[in-house]
Amino acid sequence: MPAPHMTAAAALALALAASGTARAAAPPASSGEAASPDRCAMLAAIAVDQAGRIVDAREGQRVLPPPYPGQPPAVLPAHCEVTGLLQERTGRLGQHYAIHYRLRMPQAWNGRLLFQGGGGTDGDLGNAIGDTGSAAPSALARGFAVVSQDSGHDNATNTDPAWGGQTVFGTDPVARRNYGHASLPLVTRAAKSLVASYYGKKADHSYFFGCSKGGQEGMAAAQRYPDLFDGIVAGAPGFALPRAGLNEVWSVQHFAALARQQTGRPATVASIAATFTPAQFGLVRGAVLDACDAADGLADGITADFRRCTAKAVLAQLKNKACRAGEGGDCLTDAQIRTLASVMDGPRDGRGRALYAPWTWDAGVGSPMWSSWRIGSAQMPALDVVLGGAAMATVFSTPAIAVSPAPDALLAFQQGLTLPAAERAIYARDAQFPTSAWQDIGMHSADLSAFFARGGKLMVPHGAADPVFSLLDTLAWWDRVNARFGTTTQDHLKVYPVPGMAHCFGGPAVSDYDLLQPMVDWVEHGTAPVIVARAGGQTPWPGRTRPLCAWPRVARYRDGDREKADSFVCTQ
Ligand code: CA
Repeated sequence: MPAPHMTAAAALALALAASGTARAAAPPASSGEAASPDRCAMLAAIAVDQAGRIVDAREGQRVLPPPYPGQPPAVLPAHCEVTGLLQERTGRLGQHYAIHYRLRMPQAWNGRLLFQGGGGTDGDLGNAIGDTGSAAPSALARGFAVVSQDSGHDNATNTDPAWGGQTVFGTDPVARRNYGHASLPLVTRAAKSLVASYYGKKADHSYFFGCSKGGQEGMAAAQRYPDLFDGIVAGAPGFALPRAGLNEVWSVQHFAALARQQTGRPATVASIAATFTPAQFGLVRGAVLDACDAADGLADGITADFRRCTAKAVLAQLKNKACRAGEGGDCLTDAQIRTLASVMDGPRDGRGRALYAPWTWDAGVGSPMWSSWRIGSAQMPALDVVLGGAAMATVFSTPAIAVSPAPDALLAFQQGLTLPAAERAIYARDAQFPTSAWQDIGMHSADLSAFFARGGKLMVPHGAADPVFSLLDTLAWWDRVNARFGTTTQDHLKVYPVPGMAHCFGGPAVSDYDLLQPMVDWVEHGTAPVIVARAGGQTPWPGRTRPLCAWPRVARYRDGDREKADSFVCTQ
Protein backbone atom coordinates (compact mmCIF):
# COMPACT_ATOMS: atom_id res chain seq x y z
CA MET A 1 0.00 0.00 0.00
CA PRO A 2 1.31 3.50 -0.73
CA ALA A 3 2.24 5.61 2.25
CA PRO A 4 -0.56 8.00 3.28
CA HIS A 5 1.51 11.08 2.51
CA MET A 6 2.36 9.92 -1.00
CA THR A 7 0.77 11.93 -3.80
CA ALA A 8 -1.62 10.19 -6.13
CA ALA A 9 0.73 10.67 -9.09
CA ALA A 10 3.62 9.14 -7.18
CA ALA A 11 1.40 6.28 -6.04
CA LEU A 12 0.37 5.61 -9.60
CA ALA A 13 3.96 5.63 -10.81
CA LEU A 14 4.87 3.18 -8.06
CA ALA A 15 1.93 0.92 -8.84
CA LEU A 16 2.74 0.98 -12.55
CA ALA A 17 6.39 0.18 -11.89
CA ALA A 18 5.36 -2.70 -9.62
CA SER A 19 3.23 -4.11 -12.42
CA GLY A 20 6.45 -4.79 -14.29
CA THR A 21 5.32 -3.66 -17.71
CA ALA A 22 7.76 -1.77 -19.86
CA ARG A 23 5.21 0.94 -20.67
CA ALA A 24 4.40 1.39 -17.00
CA ALA A 25 8.00 2.23 -16.24
CA ALA A 26 7.92 5.07 -18.76
CA PRO A 27 7.70 8.63 -17.43
CA PRO A 28 4.21 10.09 -17.05
CA ALA A 29 2.43 10.96 -20.27
CA SER A 30 2.43 14.64 -21.07
CA SER A 31 0.06 16.91 -22.94
CA GLY A 32 -0.51 15.70 -26.49
CA GLU A 33 1.19 12.38 -25.83
CA ALA A 34 -0.79 9.17 -25.91
CA ALA A 35 -1.53 7.69 -22.49
CA SER A 36 -1.76 3.91 -22.42
CA PRO A 37 -4.70 1.60 -21.63
CA ASP A 38 -2.51 -0.05 -18.95
CA ARG A 39 -2.26 3.25 -17.17
CA CYS A 40 -6.04 3.56 -17.32
CA ALA A 41 -6.81 0.16 -15.76
CA MET A 42 -4.30 0.92 -13.03
CA LEU A 43 -6.42 3.82 -11.81
CA ALA A 44 -8.96 1.33 -10.48
CA ALA A 45 -6.36 -0.48 -8.42
CA ILE A 46 -4.96 2.41 -6.43
CA ALA A 47 -6.39 5.10 -4.21
CA VAL A 48 -6.40 8.42 -6.03
CA ASP A 49 -6.72 11.46 -3.77
CA GLN A 50 -10.28 12.77 -3.46
CA ALA A 51 -11.58 10.40 -6.15
CA GLY A 52 -13.68 8.38 -3.68
CA ARG A 53 -14.45 4.80 -4.68
CA ILE A 54 -13.55 4.08 -8.28
CA VAL A 55 -16.04 1.60 -9.70
CA ASP A 56 -14.32 1.01 -13.01
CA ALA A 57 -11.45 2.31 -15.12
CA ARG A 58 -10.96 0.92 -18.59
CA GLU A 59 -10.55 1.85 -22.22
CA GLY A 60 -13.81 3.60 -23.15
CA GLN A 61 -16.12 2.49 -25.95
CA ARG A 62 -15.36 4.21 -29.26
CA VAL A 63 -18.93 4.26 -30.60
CA LEU A 64 -22.00 5.20 -28.53
CA PRO A 65 -25.64 4.86 -29.62
CA PRO A 66 -27.19 8.08 -30.98
CA PRO A 67 -28.54 10.38 -28.25
CA TYR A 68 -31.83 10.74 -30.16
CA PRO A 69 -33.48 8.43 -32.72
CA GLY A 70 -32.50 9.32 -36.27
CA GLN A 71 -29.17 10.87 -35.31
CA PRO A 72 -25.83 9.24 -36.17
CA PRO A 73 -24.00 7.33 -33.43
CA ALA A 74 -21.35 9.25 -31.50
CA VAL A 75 -17.81 8.27 -32.51
CA LEU A 76 -15.31 8.94 -29.73
CA PRO A 77 -11.52 9.15 -29.78
CA ALA A 78 -9.42 6.58 -27.90
CA HIS A 79 -9.78 7.35 -24.22
CA CYS A 80 -9.76 6.09 -20.65
CA GLU A 81 -13.19 5.98 -19.00
CA VAL A 82 -13.43 6.13 -15.23
CA THR A 83 -16.64 5.80 -13.25
CA GLY A 84 -16.63 6.44 -9.55
CA LEU A 85 -18.71 7.53 -6.63
CA LEU A 86 -18.39 9.77 -3.63
CA GLN A 87 -20.25 10.20 -0.37
CA GLU A 88 -22.08 6.86 -0.24
CA ARG A 89 -24.72 7.01 2.48
CA THR A 90 -28.26 6.11 3.48
CA GLY A 91 -30.54 9.12 3.70
CA ARG A 92 -34.13 9.87 4.62
CA LEU A 93 -36.89 7.41 3.72
CA GLY A 94 -34.24 4.67 3.55
CA GLN A 95 -32.91 5.90 0.20
CA HIS A 96 -29.31 4.94 -0.62
CA TYR A 97 -27.47 7.87 -2.15
CA ALA A 98 -24.08 8.55 -3.70
CA ILE A 99 -22.60 11.12 -6.07
CA HIS A 100 -21.79 9.17 -9.25
CA TYR A 101 -19.47 10.58 -11.88
CA ARG A 102 -18.02 9.58 -15.23
CA LEU A 103 -14.69 10.90 -16.52
CA ARG A 104 -13.37 10.36 -20.03
CA MET A 105 -9.68 11.14 -20.63
CA PRO A 106 -8.56 11.06 -24.26
CA GLN A 107 -5.18 9.59 -25.20
CA ALA A 108 -4.51 12.69 -27.30
CA TRP A 109 -5.08 15.22 -24.52
CA ASN A 110 -5.10 18.98 -25.02
CA GLY A 111 -4.25 19.69 -21.38
CA ARG A 112 -7.75 20.85 -20.46
CA LEU A 113 -10.62 19.57 -18.29
CA LEU A 114 -14.28 20.24 -19.05
CA PHE A 115 -17.14 19.69 -16.58
CA GLN A 116 -20.37 18.83 -18.42
CA GLY A 117 -23.45 20.22 -16.65
CA GLY A 118 -26.62 18.29 -15.90
CA GLY A 119 -30.25 18.82 -16.86
CA GLY A 120 -33.77 18.86 -15.39
CA THR A 121 -33.74 17.26 -11.97
CA ASP A 122 -30.42 15.52 -12.78
CA GLY A 123 -30.08 11.95 -11.47
CA ASP A 124 -28.41 10.87 -14.71
CA LEU A 125 -24.70 10.10 -14.91
CA GLY A 126 -24.33 11.92 -18.24
CA ASN A 127 -22.26 10.74 -21.19
CA ALA A 128 -19.14 12.87 -20.44
CA ILE A 129 -18.63 13.67 -24.12
CA GLY A 130 -18.95 17.42 -23.80
CA ASP A 131 -21.44 18.04 -26.57
CA THR A 132 -21.60 21.79 -27.09
CA GLY A 133 -25.06 21.96 -28.65
CA SER A 134 -23.62 22.91 -32.02
CA ALA A 135 -22.51 21.14 -35.17
CA ALA A 136 -18.91 21.58 -33.99
CA PRO A 137 -17.07 18.53 -32.56
CA SER A 138 -17.59 17.55 -28.94
CA ALA A 139 -15.12 18.65 -26.28
CA LEU A 140 -13.83 15.06 -26.00
CA ALA A 141 -13.17 14.95 -29.74
CA ARG A 142 -11.21 18.19 -29.38
CA GLY A 143 -8.95 16.62 -26.77
CA PHE A 144 -10.58 17.75 -23.50
CA ALA A 145 -10.89 15.39 -20.57
CA VAL A 146 -14.63 15.53 -19.77
CA VAL A 147 -16.45 14.76 -16.53
CA SER A 148 -20.18 14.47 -15.87
CA GLN A 149 -22.15 13.52 -12.74
CA ASP A 150 -25.63 12.75 -11.41
CA SER A 151 -25.38 15.40 -8.63
CA GLY A 152 -25.97 12.90 -5.84
CA HIS A 153 -29.06 10.88 -6.70
CA ASP A 154 -29.77 8.16 -9.24
CA ASN A 155 -33.03 8.16 -11.21
CA ALA A 156 -32.80 4.39 -11.62
CA THR A 157 -32.84 3.68 -7.88
CA ASN A 158 -33.84 6.85 -6.01
CA THR A 159 -37.51 6.86 -6.91
CA ASP A 160 -40.65 6.72 -4.77
CA PRO A 161 -44.19 6.99 -6.21
CA ALA A 162 -45.38 8.69 -3.01
CA TRP A 163 -42.90 11.54 -3.53
CA GLY A 164 -43.17 12.52 -7.18
CA GLY A 165 -41.17 9.48 -8.39
CA GLN A 166 -37.62 10.57 -9.26
CA THR A 167 -37.90 13.79 -7.24
CA VAL A 168 -37.87 11.92 -3.90
CA PHE A 169 -34.30 13.21 -3.40
CA GLY A 170 -35.88 16.56 -2.51
CA THR A 171 -37.01 15.06 0.82
CA ASP A 172 -33.35 14.57 1.84
CA PRO A 173 -31.47 17.73 2.93
CA VAL A 174 -28.03 16.49 1.80
CA ALA A 175 -29.34 15.25 -1.56
CA ARG A 176 -31.13 18.57 -2.17
CA ARG A 177 -27.98 20.53 -1.39
CA ASN A 178 -25.90 18.25 -3.62
CA TYR A 179 -28.41 18.83 -6.41
CA GLY A 180 -28.25 22.59 -5.86
CA HIS A 181 -24.48 23.01 -5.65
CA ALA A 182 -22.57 20.91 -3.09
CA SER A 183 -21.68 18.03 -5.44
CA LEU A 184 -19.85 20.39 -7.82
CA PRO A 185 -16.60 20.96 -5.88
CA LEU A 186 -16.42 17.29 -4.83
CA VAL A 187 -16.68 15.95 -8.39
CA THR A 188 -14.40 18.66 -9.78
CA ARG A 189 -11.68 17.84 -7.27
CA ALA A 190 -12.06 14.11 -7.99
CA ALA A 191 -11.75 14.76 -11.72
CA LYS A 192 -8.74 17.04 -11.32
CA SER A 193 -7.04 14.46 -9.14
CA LEU A 194 -7.68 11.63 -11.60
CA VAL A 195 -6.49 13.78 -14.51
CA ALA A 196 -3.25 14.55 -12.67
CA SER A 197 -2.71 10.86 -11.86
CA TYR A 198 -3.46 9.62 -15.35
CA TYR A 199 -1.48 12.15 -17.34
CA GLY A 200 1.20 12.82 -14.73
CA LYS A 201 0.44 16.54 -14.73
CA LYS A 202 -2.38 18.80 -13.73
CA ALA A 203 -4.82 20.23 -16.24
CA ASP A 204 -3.61 23.61 -17.51
CA HIS A 205 -7.15 25.02 -17.58
CA SER A 206 -10.57 23.92 -16.43
CA TYR A 207 -13.93 24.79 -17.99
CA PHE A 208 -17.60 24.28 -17.26
CA PHE A 209 -20.24 23.90 -19.97
CA GLY A 210 -23.96 23.49 -19.31
CA CYS A 211 -27.46 24.67 -20.11
CA SER A 212 -30.72 24.84 -18.13
CA LYS A 213 -30.00 23.02 -14.84
CA GLY A 214 -26.45 22.86 -16.18
CA GLY A 215 -26.57 26.65 -16.51
CA GLN A 216 -27.66 26.84 -12.86
CA GLU A 217 -24.63 24.72 -11.99
CA GLY A 218 -22.36 27.07 -13.94
CA MET A 219 -23.78 29.99 -11.96
CA ALA A 220 -23.29 28.06 -8.71
CA ALA A 221 -19.64 27.54 -9.64
CA ALA A 222 -19.09 31.22 -10.54
CA GLN A 223 -20.78 32.49 -7.36
CA ARG A 224 -19.95 29.89 -4.70
CA TYR A 225 -16.87 28.04 -5.95
CA PRO A 226 -15.00 30.66 -7.99
CA ASP A 227 -11.67 28.78 -7.90
CA LEU A 228 -12.90 25.67 -9.72
CA PHE A 229 -13.06 26.91 -13.32
CA ASP A 230 -11.32 29.44 -15.55
CA GLY A 231 -14.21 29.68 -18.01
CA ILE A 232 -17.90 28.89 -17.57
CA VAL A 233 -20.65 28.64 -20.19
CA ALA A 234 -23.94 28.83 -18.28
CA GLY A 235 -26.70 28.59 -20.91
CA ALA A 236 -30.35 29.46 -20.14
CA PRO A 237 -29.46 29.35 -16.45
CA GLY A 238 -32.02 27.91 -14.04
CA PHE A 239 -30.53 30.11 -11.36
CA ALA A 240 -33.95 31.07 -10.01
CA LEU A 241 -35.34 27.54 -10.40
CA PRO A 242 -37.78 27.63 -7.44
CA ARG A 243 -39.23 30.94 -8.67
CA ALA A 244 -39.50 29.56 -12.21
CA GLY A 245 -41.51 26.79 -10.52
CA LEU A 246 -43.96 29.47 -9.34
CA ASN A 247 -44.26 30.57 -12.96
CA GLU A 248 -45.12 27.01 -13.99
CA VAL A 249 -47.93 26.96 -11.41
CA TRP A 250 -49.20 30.35 -12.66
CA SER A 251 -49.11 29.27 -16.30
CA VAL A 252 -50.77 25.90 -15.65
CA GLN A 253 -53.53 27.58 -13.64
CA HIS A 254 -54.24 29.98 -16.51
CA PHE A 255 -54.28 27.34 -19.24
CA ALA A 256 -56.38 25.07 -17.00
CA ALA A 257 -58.92 27.89 -16.57
CA LEU A 258 -58.99 28.33 -20.35
CA ALA A 259 -59.53 24.57 -20.85
CA ARG A 260 -62.40 24.64 -18.33
CA GLN A 261 -63.98 27.52 -20.19
CA GLN A 262 -63.59 25.81 -23.57
CA THR A 263 -64.94 22.41 -22.50
CA GLY A 264 -67.27 23.19 -19.60
CA ARG A 265 -65.54 20.42 -17.61
CA PRO A 266 -62.68 20.20 -15.12
CA ALA A 267 -59.30 20.61 -16.85
CA THR A 268 -57.18 17.58 -17.75
CA VAL A 269 -53.70 17.44 -19.26
CA ALA A 270 -55.45 16.44 -22.52
CA SER A 271 -57.83 19.42 -22.55
CA ILE A 272 -54.96 21.80 -21.71
CA ALA A 273 -53.06 20.43 -24.73
CA ALA A 274 -56.07 21.33 -26.90
CA THR A 275 -56.42 24.96 -25.73
CA PHE A 276 -54.49 26.22 -28.80
CA THR A 277 -54.00 24.58 -32.19
CA PRO A 278 -50.63 24.82 -33.97
CA ALA A 279 -52.36 27.08 -36.52
CA GLN A 280 -53.46 29.42 -33.73
CA PHE A 281 -49.91 29.60 -32.39
CA GLY A 282 -48.94 30.46 -35.97
CA LEU A 283 -51.27 33.47 -35.67
CA VAL A 284 -49.48 34.48 -32.47
CA ARG A 285 -46.12 34.34 -34.26
CA GLY A 286 -47.61 36.39 -37.07
CA ALA A 287 -48.82 39.03 -34.61
CA VAL A 288 -45.36 39.29 -33.00
CA LEU A 289 -43.72 39.68 -36.41
CA ASP A 290 -46.29 42.28 -37.48
CA ALA A 291 -45.54 44.26 -34.31
CA CYS A 292 -41.75 43.99 -34.07
CA ASP A 293 -39.93 42.24 -36.93
CA ALA A 294 -38.83 45.45 -38.66
CA ALA A 295 -37.65 47.14 -35.43
CA ASP A 296 -34.13 45.70 -35.97
CA GLY A 297 -33.94 47.19 -39.45
CA LEU A 298 -35.10 44.19 -41.47
CA ALA A 299 -38.31 42.15 -41.79
CA ASP A 300 -36.61 38.74 -41.79
CA GLY A 301 -38.72 36.64 -39.41
CA ILE A 302 -36.40 37.45 -36.48
CA THR A 303 -37.26 39.91 -33.70
CA ALA A 304 -33.71 40.80 -32.67
CA ASP A 305 -34.69 44.06 -30.96
CA PHE A 306 -37.08 42.41 -28.53
CA ARG A 307 -37.07 45.45 -26.24
CA ARG A 308 -39.30 47.13 -28.80
CA CYS A 309 -41.66 44.17 -28.74
CA THR A 310 -43.85 45.40 -25.89
CA ALA A 311 -47.00 43.64 -24.69
CA LYS A 312 -48.98 46.67 -25.80
CA ALA A 313 -47.65 46.51 -29.37
CA VAL A 314 -48.20 42.76 -29.69
CA LEU A 315 -51.65 42.73 -28.06
CA ALA A 316 -52.80 45.34 -30.59
CA GLN A 317 -51.75 42.96 -33.37
CA LEU A 318 -53.31 39.92 -31.62
CA LYS A 319 -56.64 41.77 -31.61
CA ASN A 320 -56.38 41.86 -35.40
CA LYS A 321 -56.39 38.04 -35.33
CA ALA A 322 -59.43 37.86 -33.01
CA CYS A 323 -62.45 35.79 -34.06
CA ARG A 324 -65.35 37.80 -35.42
CA ALA A 325 -68.94 36.60 -35.61
CA GLY A 326 -69.81 35.09 -38.97
CA GLU A 327 -66.20 34.85 -40.21
CA GLY A 328 -64.51 31.51 -40.86
CA GLY A 329 -60.85 30.55 -40.84
CA ASP A 330 -58.29 30.47 -38.05
CA CYS A 331 -58.66 33.09 -35.36
CA LEU A 332 -58.03 33.65 -31.65
CA THR A 333 -60.79 33.96 -29.06
CA ASP A 334 -60.75 36.81 -26.56
CA ALA A 335 -60.22 34.23 -23.79
CA GLN A 336 -57.16 32.83 -25.59
CA ILE A 337 -55.68 36.31 -26.00
CA ARG A 338 -56.33 37.19 -22.34
CA THR A 339 -54.73 33.90 -21.19
CA LEU A 340 -51.61 34.50 -23.29
CA ALA A 341 -51.33 38.07 -22.01
CA SER A 342 -51.46 36.91 -18.38
CA VAL A 343 -49.00 34.06 -18.92
CA MET A 344 -46.51 36.31 -20.72
CA ASP A 345 -46.77 38.89 -17.93
CA GLY A 346 -45.43 36.28 -15.47
CA PRO A 347 -46.66 35.23 -12.04
CA ARG A 348 -48.03 37.80 -9.59
CA ASP A 349 -49.53 37.58 -6.13
CA GLY A 350 -52.95 38.91 -5.22
CA ARG A 351 -51.58 42.42 -4.80
CA GLY A 352 -49.94 42.45 -8.21
CA ARG A 353 -46.37 41.90 -6.94
CA ALA A 354 -44.19 40.03 -9.47
CA LEU A 355 -43.09 36.59 -8.22
CA TYR A 356 -40.64 35.78 -11.02
CA ALA A 357 -40.19 37.72 -14.27
CA PRO A 358 -42.19 38.63 -17.36
CA TRP A 359 -41.48 36.96 -20.74
CA THR A 360 -40.30 38.42 -24.01
CA TRP A 361 -42.81 38.61 -26.84
CA ASP A 362 -40.55 36.92 -29.35
CA ALA A 363 -41.27 35.35 -32.74
CA GLY A 364 -40.49 31.93 -31.21
CA VAL A 365 -43.46 32.11 -28.81
CA GLY A 366 -45.81 29.25 -29.72
CA SER A 367 -43.14 27.16 -31.48
CA PRO A 368 -43.49 23.38 -30.90
CA MET A 369 -40.81 23.36 -28.21
CA TRP A 370 -42.34 26.40 -26.49
CA SER A 371 -45.81 24.83 -26.47
CA SER A 372 -44.46 21.46 -25.23
CA TRP A 373 -43.79 23.22 -21.91
CA ARG A 374 -46.87 25.41 -21.73
CA ILE A 375 -49.69 23.15 -22.97
CA GLY A 376 -48.13 19.85 -24.14
CA SER A 377 -49.58 17.78 -26.97
CA ALA A 378 -51.83 14.79 -27.55
CA GLN A 379 -48.75 12.60 -27.13
CA MET A 380 -47.16 14.28 -24.11
CA PRO A 381 -48.54 16.25 -21.14
CA ALA A 382 -47.25 19.79 -20.62
CA LEU A 383 -43.77 19.79 -19.11
CA ASP A 384 -44.91 22.67 -16.90
CA VAL A 385 -47.21 20.08 -15.28
CA VAL A 386 -45.12 16.91 -15.16
CA LEU A 387 -41.71 18.44 -14.43
CA GLY A 388 -42.90 21.63 -12.76
CA GLY A 389 -45.50 20.03 -10.49
CA ALA A 390 -43.27 17.27 -9.13
CA ALA A 391 -40.32 19.61 -8.53
CA MET A 392 -42.46 22.28 -6.84
CA ALA A 393 -43.94 19.73 -4.43
CA THR A 394 -40.93 17.66 -3.45
CA VAL A 395 -37.81 19.72 -4.25
CA PHE A 396 -38.71 23.43 -3.99
CA SER A 397 -41.01 23.24 -0.93
CA THR A 398 -39.99 22.91 2.71
CA PRO A 399 -41.35 20.70 4.10
CA ALA A 400 -41.64 18.55 0.98
CA ILE A 401 -45.19 17.73 -0.12
CA ALA A 402 -46.11 14.14 -1.03
CA VAL A 403 -47.51 13.90 -4.55
CA SER A 404 -48.08 11.18 -7.14
CA PRO A 405 -46.10 11.47 -10.41
CA ALA A 406 -49.28 10.80 -12.43
CA PRO A 407 -49.84 13.81 -14.74
CA ASP A 408 -53.42 14.55 -13.69
CA ALA A 409 -52.44 14.25 -10.01
CA LEU A 410 -49.68 16.83 -10.58
CA LEU A 411 -52.18 19.04 -12.41
CA ALA A 412 -54.58 18.82 -9.44
CA PHE A 413 -51.73 19.69 -7.07
CA GLN A 414 -50.76 22.78 -9.11
CA GLN A 415 -54.37 23.92 -9.44
CA GLY A 416 -54.81 23.65 -5.67
CA LEU A 417 -51.76 25.77 -4.80
CA THR A 418 -51.97 29.42 -3.84
CA LEU A 419 -48.93 31.32 -5.01
CA PRO A 420 -48.16 33.19 -1.76
CA ALA A 421 -48.12 29.88 0.14
CA ALA A 422 -45.93 28.28 -2.54
CA GLU A 423 -43.57 31.25 -2.36
CA ARG A 424 -43.28 30.97 1.42
CA ALA A 425 -42.40 27.26 1.10
CA ILE A 426 -39.48 28.15 -1.19
CA TYR A 427 -37.91 30.28 1.54
CA ALA A 428 -38.91 28.09 4.50
CA ARG A 429 -36.47 26.19 6.74
CA ASP A 430 -37.23 23.64 9.43
CA ALA A 431 -35.53 21.26 11.85
CA GLN A 432 -34.53 18.89 9.05
CA PHE A 433 -33.69 21.48 6.40
CA PRO A 434 -31.32 24.09 7.87
CA THR A 435 -31.23 25.83 4.49
CA SER A 436 -34.19 26.70 2.28
CA ALA A 437 -34.73 25.48 -1.29
CA TRP A 438 -33.89 29.00 -2.43
CA GLN A 439 -30.59 28.91 -0.52
CA ASP A 440 -29.80 25.43 -1.86
CA ILE A 441 -30.77 25.97 -5.50
CA GLY A 442 -31.21 29.69 -6.22
CA MET A 443 -27.90 31.04 -7.59
CA HIS A 444 -29.06 34.56 -8.31
CA SER A 445 -26.31 36.63 -6.69
CA ALA A 446 -24.66 39.46 -8.62
CA ASP A 447 -21.53 39.12 -6.48
CA LEU A 448 -19.05 37.68 -8.95
CA SER A 449 -16.12 39.55 -7.38
CA ALA A 450 -14.03 36.47 -6.52
CA PHE A 451 -14.59 34.90 -9.95
CA PHE A 452 -13.80 38.16 -11.75
CA ALA A 453 -10.73 38.76 -9.53
CA ARG A 454 -9.17 35.42 -10.53
CA GLY A 455 -9.71 36.35 -14.21
CA GLY A 456 -12.73 34.09 -14.73
CA LYS A 457 -14.83 34.36 -17.88
CA LEU A 458 -18.57 33.67 -18.01
CA MET A 459 -20.77 33.30 -21.11
CA VAL A 460 -24.57 33.12 -20.80
CA PRO A 461 -26.50 32.34 -24.01
CA HIS A 462 -30.27 32.47 -23.52
CA GLY A 463 -33.16 32.01 -25.97
CA ALA A 464 -35.60 34.92 -26.21
CA ALA A 465 -38.45 32.40 -26.60
CA ASP A 466 -37.28 30.17 -23.72
CA PRO A 467 -40.48 29.02 -21.94
CA VAL A 468 -38.68 27.58 -18.89
CA PHE A 469 -36.38 30.35 -17.68
CA SER A 470 -37.15 33.90 -18.73
CA LEU A 471 -34.51 35.82 -20.67
CA LEU A 472 -35.78 38.92 -18.87
CA ASP A 473 -34.84 37.37 -15.53
CA THR A 474 -31.31 36.81 -16.84
CA LEU A 475 -31.14 40.39 -18.18
CA ALA A 476 -32.36 41.79 -14.83
CA TRP A 477 -29.51 39.86 -13.20
CA TRP A 478 -27.09 41.30 -15.79
CA ASP A 479 -28.33 44.79 -14.81
CA ARG A 480 -27.39 44.08 -11.19
CA VAL A 481 -23.96 42.72 -12.16
CA ASN A 482 -23.36 45.69 -14.46
CA ALA A 483 -24.40 48.15 -11.75
CA ARG A 484 -21.86 46.55 -9.44
CA PHE A 485 -18.88 46.13 -11.78
CA GLY A 486 -19.46 48.79 -14.43
CA THR A 487 -17.21 48.67 -17.48
CA THR A 488 -15.22 45.68 -16.17
CA THR A 489 -18.36 43.57 -16.56
CA GLN A 490 -17.70 43.11 -20.29
CA ASP A 491 -14.17 41.83 -19.53
CA HIS A 492 -15.64 38.85 -17.67
CA LEU A 493 -19.29 38.35 -18.59
CA LYS A 494 -21.11 38.08 -21.92
CA VAL A 495 -24.86 37.49 -22.01
CA TYR A 496 -26.05 36.45 -25.48
CA PRO A 497 -29.80 36.72 -26.10
CA VAL A 498 -30.75 34.40 -28.99
CA PRO A 499 -33.92 35.64 -30.73
CA GLY A 500 -36.38 32.89 -31.64
CA MET A 501 -34.62 30.20 -29.65
CA ALA A 502 -36.58 28.10 -27.16
CA HIS A 503 -34.98 26.31 -24.18
CA CYS A 504 -31.25 25.80 -24.95
CA PHE A 505 -32.03 24.98 -28.61
CA GLY A 506 -34.95 24.77 -31.04
CA GLY A 507 -37.40 27.32 -32.38
CA PRO A 508 -37.25 29.58 -35.45
CA ALA A 509 -33.72 30.78 -34.61
CA VAL A 510 -30.20 31.17 -35.94
CA SER A 511 -28.87 29.11 -33.08
CA ASP A 512 -26.03 26.84 -34.19
CA TYR A 513 -23.00 28.45 -32.57
CA ASP A 514 -19.89 27.10 -30.87
CA LEU A 515 -18.98 28.89 -27.63
CA LEU A 516 -16.27 26.50 -26.46
CA GLN A 517 -13.43 27.58 -28.76
CA PRO A 518 -14.19 31.31 -28.28
CA MET A 519 -14.22 30.68 -24.53
CA VAL A 520 -10.81 28.97 -24.67
CA ASP A 521 -9.41 31.86 -26.73
CA TRP A 522 -10.87 34.39 -24.30
CA VAL A 523 -9.46 32.62 -21.20
CA GLU A 524 -6.07 31.61 -22.56
CA HIS A 525 -5.27 34.42 -24.99
CA GLY A 526 -7.50 37.28 -23.86
CA THR A 527 -9.16 37.36 -27.28
CA ALA A 528 -12.57 39.04 -27.04
CA PRO A 529 -15.14 36.62 -28.48
CA VAL A 530 -16.65 37.26 -31.93
CA ILE A 531 -19.35 34.70 -32.62
CA VAL A 532 -21.30 33.95 -35.78
CA ALA A 533 -24.35 31.71 -35.56
CA ARG A 534 -25.86 29.60 -38.34
CA ALA A 535 -29.47 28.50 -38.88
CA GLY A 536 -30.06 24.75 -38.90
CA GLY A 537 -32.09 22.61 -41.30
CA GLN A 538 -35.23 22.70 -39.12
CA THR A 539 -35.56 26.50 -39.35
CA PRO A 540 -37.27 28.53 -42.09
CA TRP A 541 -33.83 29.67 -43.34
CA PRO A 542 -31.21 26.86 -43.38
CA GLY A 543 -27.69 28.23 -43.70
CA ARG A 544 -28.58 31.81 -42.76
CA THR A 545 -25.94 33.42 -40.53
CA ARG A 546 -26.19 36.18 -37.91
CA PRO A 547 -23.77 37.69 -35.41
CA LEU A 548 -24.41 36.59 -31.82
CA CYS A 549 -24.39 39.91 -29.98
CA ALA A 550 -23.42 40.44 -26.34
CA TRP A 551 -26.07 42.30 -24.36
CA PRO A 552 -26.97 45.16 -24.34
CA ARG A 553 -26.17 45.09 -28.07
CA VAL A 554 -28.47 43.41 -30.58
CA ALA A 555 -27.97 42.53 -34.26
CA ARG A 556 -29.22 45.27 -36.60
CA TYR A 557 -29.30 45.15 -40.38
CA ARG A 558 -26.82 47.49 -42.03
CA ASP A 559 -26.89 46.64 -45.73
CA GLY A 560 -26.01 43.80 -48.08
CA ASP A 561 -27.06 40.16 -48.30
CA ARG A 562 -29.96 39.58 -45.90
CA GLU A 563 -28.83 35.99 -45.26
CA LYS A 564 -25.26 36.83 -44.19
CA ALA A 565 -23.94 37.82 -40.77
CA ASP A 566 -21.62 40.51 -42.12
CA SER A 567 -24.62 42.53 -43.29
CA PHE A 568 -25.48 43.08 -39.62
CA VAL A 569 -23.84 45.02 -36.82
CA CYS A 570 -24.08 44.52 -33.05
CA THR A 571 -25.26 47.80 -31.58
CA GLN A 572 -27.44 49.12 -28.77
CA1 CA B 1 -36.12 41.48 -37.97
